[in-house]
Amino acid sequence: TDIKELLFSRIRDVADYPEPGVMFKDITPLLADPAAFTALTDALAEIAGRTGATKVVGLEARGFILGAPVAVRAGLGFIPVRKAGKLPGATLAQAYDLEYGSAEIEVHAEDLSSDDRILIIDDVLATGGTAEASIQLIRRAGAQVAGLAVLMELGFLSGRARLEPALAGAPLEAL
Ligand code: IMP
Repeated sequence: TDIKELLFSRIRDVADYPEPGVMFKDITPLLADPAAFTALTDALAEIAGRTGATKVVGLEARGFILGAPVAVRAGLGFIPVRKAGKLPGATLAQAYDLEYGSAEIEVHAEDLSSDDRILIIDDVLATGGTAEASIQLIRRAGAQVAGLAVLMELGFLSGRARLEPALAGAPLEAL
């Protein structure tokens, strides 16, 4: 479609970043283009409405940039899921494995209730490790997962297959 072409045309491939052999998908040209950023925000807000989300969770850091305008556009609250040690209040934490070592994400426990249906937003789905941990975090907080929406899915890393059990039927939408 036209929107897909517009979005795709505004993503820059950066070779050997952040390390040799990696082709990094850089979304900053898209963010700098108001037509593309607006089209992306509208498309993600449509998913929020269609999935019956009550709140938007953005994954640090680019999930904040995309998720916050989506929450405003959809008339929903925004909740940041942050890397460990950044949130001042009482948090729930979820650890997950990286290629080398591990990482931890956190959310303010009071931001999520059992009435909530959460749409998780991030820019790029790669191995799915970050998204999987965020789904586990949201479920442990007692909330439901309405879906996961990303700008771009790197299909060759098979994140979608990895996420299938965690999503438990909730949609994964990659624009
Ligand atoms: P995963 O946990 O392997 O799926 O990696 C996804 C996380 O890493 C997301 O939070 C992305 O923002 C980030 N990420 C991985 N690869 C890229 C990329 O090529 N461009 C931008 N972000 C990326």
